[in-house]
Amino acid sequence: MAKPRWVQGYELSTTPRQVVAYVLAIDLLAIAATGATAGLLPVSPTDGARLAVLVGCAIVHVELCRSIERERKLAAGSGPFVDCLTPWHFAGALVLPPSLSSLFVVFTQTYVWYRVWRGRRPLYKWVFSAATVLLATQASAVVLYAAPGPHPGVPPGWVGLGFEVAVAALRWLVNYSLVLGAVLATSPDLRAGKIVNGFGDQILEAGALGLGLAAAGLLQLDARLLVGIVVGLVALHRGVLLAQFRHASRTDGKTGLYTPAWWNQIATGAMQRAADARTSVGVLMLDLDHFKRLNDNYGHLAGDQVLRAVAETITSAIRSYDAACRWGGEEFAVVLPHIDSEDLYAIGDRIRRQVRTLNPTVTTGDGTTTDIPDLTISIGGALYPTPGITTLTDLQLAADAALYAAKHNGRDCVKLATPPNSGSVSHTDANQR
Ligand code: GH3
Ligand code: MG
Ligand code: MG
Repeated sequence: MAKPRWVQGYELSTTPRQVVAYVLAIDLLAIAATGATAGLLPVSPTDGARLAVLVGCAIVHVELCRSIERERKLAAGSGPFVDCLTPWHFAGALVLPPSLSSLFVVFTQTYVWYRVWRGRRPLYKWVFSAATVLLATQASAVVLYAAPGPHPGVPPGWVGLGFEVAVAALRWLVNYSLVLGAVLATSPDLRAGKIVNGFGDQILEAGALGLGLAAAGLLQLDARLLVGIVVGLVALHRGVLLAQFRHASRTDGKTGLYTPAWWNQIATGAMQRAADARTSVGVLMLDLDHFKRLNDNYGHLAGDQVLRAVAETITSAIRSYDAACRWGGEEFAVVLPHIDSEDLYAIGDRIRRQVRTLNPTVTTGDGTTTDIPDLTISIGGALYPTPGITTLTDLQLAADAALYAAKHNGRDCVKLATPPNSGSVSHTDANQR
């Protein structure tokens, strides 16, 4: 039998039991809490007018940022997502009586569902995020009830400011702990620290709450001034996406290392600074040995897991101001400013030895896990300044030639290029472990 339209996309039947139980419990709690606070304050015509203004602002904001919001969500991690409605919901919690601020949350969440997410996200997730906002709203209502000044309204004075900050912090806490609970119910193995997205997201959340406070103040002063908040929010929203795109364009999806294009910019900058300050730069080019064989034996997915493990090894073996990229396939490049040939060799050899003892655990084609013992890597390095090396391309070509020398020398070794006119390689103490 076909599911009724409203159930389609709800997708609870394919969700783990403990997640369903958790989500339904939070949904019910949100309904109960909303009912409990609804009668806390009476509703006046002014409140109705403020609700109408906030609804108008939220709709304009959502309409102007629909596509951005979808792209942001696609690129977001597993933790709480900084919602574009946060400023409006916070403003609503400050200036509206609880019954209207709850109505505002339900209306805007439904509106965003229809305009942005319908058919793109499971409905239960969206209902759950509406429940978390409703619970944050009720928690805000209870705290604000104890604040000085007329109710509803932005609490005045320094004591009022203390209440506003406390309510903002409380909203953050309610939202994060509820979403954290859902993520942990879904994947108990995830570490909580991994779920709380980066510092950038926390700043974004704080900024959203700050703008919500400003919007609430302006709404009480002169609602027309909210035009400034809407324009500012839309512009910032685009900036946020830009930051996500920038991160994506600089990061190799498979390994988390830099992309070659961004690495090139870093390396070119390092070369220029070295030329100006008469210091040095080293480049290492690295290529895993017999990687095709590994793919053939264990499958490409296992190969990818090895690439990730090797990338982590490289990152941990280099210095904090060195930069590594995945050059392509199973090849990597590292740029190392302020270095001499001894240290360049030492760092290359440290990577080589650590890869040898890595023994990464991978999942093979048939779903079993296995360790990969004899993983090895060949490394070529070159140093600037060296006669004949004036550009980054020269430096890379020299490092690449040294890498080929390492391969021809039996692999699992580090070779450094010497000045091209001397025609040989130095540091031939390869294969020492
Ligand atoms: P050599 O020691 O001479 O380097 O031998 P090799 O087999 O590693 O040879 P080469 O470097 O030419 O082979 C590259 C292989 O890397 C081919 C391909 O199977 C594999 N490869 C390239 N990109 C990826 C990737 O993104 N994932 C996986 N799993 N394998 C890749
Ligand atoms: Mg290769
Ligand atoms: Mg190779």
